[in-house]
Amino acid sequence: MASMAGEFVFAPLGGVGEIGMNLSIYGFGDGRRRQWLIVDCGVSFAAEEHLPGVDLILPDIRYLIEERRNLLGLILTHAHEDHMGALIDLWPRLNVPIYATPFSAALFEARRLSEPGAPEIPVNVVPLRGRVKLDPFTIEFISVAHSIPESNALAISTPAGTVLHTGDWKIDPTPLVGAKTDAARLSALGDGGVLALVGDSTNAIRDGRSPSEADVAKTLAELVRTAPARVAVTTFASHVDRIWAVADAARLADREVVVVGRAMERVVQVARETGYLDGVQEFRQAESYGYLPPDKVLALCTGSQGEPRAALSRIAEDEHPEVTLTRGDRVIFSSRAIPGNEKAVDRVINGLVAQGVEVVTDRTHLVHVSRIVIPAHGEALHLAEHAKLARQAGVPHVLLCRNGDLVRLAPGTPEIIDEIPSGRLYKDGALLIEAEARTIAARRRLGLSGVVSVALALSEKGALAADPEIELIGVPEFDGSGRRMDEIAREALEEAFEALPRPRRRDPNEVAEALRRAVRGALAERWKKKPICYVHVLVV
Ligand SMILES: [Zn+2]
Repeated sequence: MASMAGEFVFAPLGGVGEIGMNLSIYGFGDGRRRQWLIVDCGVSFAAEEHLPGVDLILPDIRYLIEERRNLLGLILTHAHEDHMGALIDLWPRLNVPIYATPFSAALFEARRLSEPGAPEIPVNVVPLRGRVKLDPFTIEFISVAHSIPESNALAISTPAGTVLHTGDWKIDPTPLVGAKTDAARLSALGDGGVLALVGDSTNAIRDGRSPSEADVAKTLAELVRTAPARVAVTTFASHVDRIWAVADAARLADREVVVVGRAMERVVQVARETGYLDGVQEFRQAESYGYLPPDKVLALCTGSQGEPRAALSRIAEDEHPEVTLTRGDRVIFSSRAIPGNEKAVDRVINGLVAQGVEVVTDRTHLVHVSRIVIPAHGEALHLAEHAKLARQAGVPHVLLCRNGDLVRLAPGTPEIIDEIPSGRLYKDGALLIEAEARTIAARRRLGLSGVVSVALALSEKGALAADPEIELIGVPEFDGSGRRMDEIAREALEEAFEALPRPRRRDPNEVAEALRRAVRGALAERWKKKPICYVHVLVV
């Protein structure tokens, strides 16, 4: 009896149509019961103005929680936050075995230890170019050059065929650290027949225009050598290739590298332990910065994206306890601002310029390999561009999908066959909340229009037992003619109360609603904005 061939399916649960938050799943089975493989589990960073108080955005994994018993494993392609940053928060809900190469595993462990109260999370360490067998899947790790050591593409094989999941990559012929892209293995895989290519090929196509890491290192060395006084360089902490280039530039200019910022200290330590900085001179801690002559020091700082608590932001605000910069010093941004972070970066640059510091960015020099701006999976424009290029290259099936689309890769013509629950979670302090929850919307409203709070004591007969308490928070103090807004609120409140027929004054709910409308209306008339208004009525 011929057995029904298994279906091989794919769904993105994050990362498509947006930047960051990469999470993909691959399934194999007969539709009623599938076994799942998860690839990556990243975060996205929240833009303060849209999501006040939210630190991180995580993919909503309710579908995976439902399917928990059918999860075989979670593979990390590499250790960037947009690929592994959600794992500490979400793993306890999945309890799935994790597989990663040594550097990624070590950096993940260091991240976990830096988070107070994080649970134990075991990671299975896979050697470079290793394979993992999670029946019916076989996953082969293929080294690709990227801005962090040990970035991997994955060849995911099933009885229905093999998919190449690219992860993040760029084909850099001269990386300074880590493996080059294993072009031989990739083309061998292509010869063997690949069912589908999933992920970031847009960037591979753009690479013809990217300067190599060696070119960047040359420019950086020149900028450091010609600096008249102190130099600070900022880049992504995880960009070990670039840290290497900075170290070289410092050595050639006879400067000591001082590491500033916790994320940078952590990566440097892990990179040393795992051999990625072998042969690189020792670095110094931030404490020694002040003791070194200006032309003998190079500060390697966190904060390339304008993160408000990172080292460079604090230096720009002149609030860093150990590191200061003054007129004549030079700051080099050796990483491009991720879209959405430009304003924050500009704020830092302005702070530095105001102190007389010279700021060098990729707008003025070639200090960045153009990688970071192109998202791994990408926003709509990138997806469309990518699809067009693939079509022009003669790829017979080009499929654009959205987060939550379930795509059948085999057998038959690839197509979207279902939609599975997907969405976003917000990290709000120590808690995870659903994006649909009203919390953040309410907070945004509060931020825009303030609150009026009224407390009222009523006797059982409906008479005021005391003067009402009125408090305005975040509402302007005076109207356009100089009258106090709290007095306007009080007057409106008293008038509305007097206007209520006596019998209705005994119903606390009715009183509260009538007064709420009156106060809100009176303030809105002057302000042309409506505050949030609460009236609490107590019957005494
Ligand atoms: Zn990456």
